[in-house]
Amino acid sequence: TSTDPQWYIDLEDKHAAHNYGPLPVVLAQGENATVTDVAGKTYVDALAGYSALNFGHGNERLIQVAQEQLASMTLTSRAFYSDQLGPYARDLTTLIGKDMMLPMNTGAEAVETAIKLARKWGAEVKGVENGKQEIIVMEGNFHGRTSTIVSFSTDEEARAGYGPYTAGFTIVEYGNAQAIRDAITENTVAVLLEPIQGEGGVVIPPEGFLAEVREITREQNILMMADEIQSGLGRTGTTLACHYEGVDADVYTLGKALGGGIVPVSAVLADEDVMKVFTKGTHGSTFGGNPLANAVAHEVVKMLASGEFQNAAQERGKQLAEGLEALVGEGLVAVRVRGLWAGLDIDTSLMTGREACEKLMAEGVLAKDTHGSTIRLAPPLTATEADIEEILRALRAVLGVD
Ligand code: PLP
Repeated sequence: TSTDPQWYIDLEDKHAAHNYGPLPVVLAQGENATVTDVAGKTYVDALAGYSALNFGHGNERLIQVAQEQLASMTLTSRAFYSDQLGPYARDLTTLIGKDMMLPMNTGAEAVETAIKLARKWGAEVKGVENGKQEIIVMEGNFHGRTSTIVSFSTDEEARAGYGPYTAGFTIVEYGNAQAIRDAITENTVAVLLEPIQGEGGVVIPPEGFLAEVREITREQNILMMADEIQSGLGRTGTTLACHYEGVDADVYTLGKALGGGIVPVSAVLADEDVMKVFTKGTHGSTFGGNPLANAVAHEVVKMLASGEFQNAAQERGKQLAEGLEALVGEGLVAVRVRGLWAGLDIDTSLMTGREACEKLMAEGVLAKDTHGSTIRLAPPLTATEADIEEILRALRAVLGVD
């Protein structure tokens, strides 16, 4: 071990695949919204594990539950029942307002599960010939990294070289309900969308879009599938981003914060008339629904049931939004904020998104650029007023605004 960051960076560069381009900071410790590197420098974490750390680093309540579960049992596999799955499933489905859940591990697996669910529902309930099912997806989407999911990505970097691509997806403009209407055929089984596109740069669709998608899909007997893996679980100031528009999708995918920043946990939720197409032996996962994951996620669900974290996202989000809006025209071209989630477009005549993140890092704030000129800010929902002020101070310093 060493206190020299470069020692760790060199090891990672030599022995770990280069599928990320990390900022040159080597983290060793986290406490709520702050993290400390191996040299002892502290930063505000404005990325929060891509929103997997909605409840902060080292959340005492979650750590305690995890430790208790570690001591009793960590894995059963679903060949057997577990005392942790039923109570968790009951409370998660109550929180989200669906009859049933299917537990998986990562976000991409939840999306894959939702795709399989829609196709099987299409074949067995809607009566589409198997092999002909079509799913409508959005330009600028991000749903994960599996070969099927990248098949319908519109990001060349995510997609290039990974052919042959999975068929059965129609891509339409995000935020354009008419484009969805026009893309529907007799074989369409689902519309899959992010209620707010996270990796796309916190892209908020026009008001009324989600409600219109709901109407169209209901009219046409098509499943509306909302990927709330990044937008859900309090981030936007409501339990789900769809709730902001009073919309209830047929299928939800959840992940990231569901595992409390401790374990990878994801889930697909749907009502019984849809979920029933999964029968014994038709889908599964060795680790999906493991007791450790269930215990942590159950506690996350209990925390969200209080509404406390959604309120915090609104309150701290308001503070963040006010500070950011004052910077539009002062180095920021545009800002988009919903709850404690912001996308900032940097004036690229000043610097790129990556350069801005490097400068923010020097100022003691960690954030990550997406698509060149956009920075996403998503600190833990447990960030303090002072943490948010620190993010704004650092940003003003980077942009040279007094
Ligand atoms: N769906 C959305 C909306 C996401 O933002 C992400 C990750 O960023 C995923 C799916 C994939 O999740 P995972 O990286 O856990 O596979």
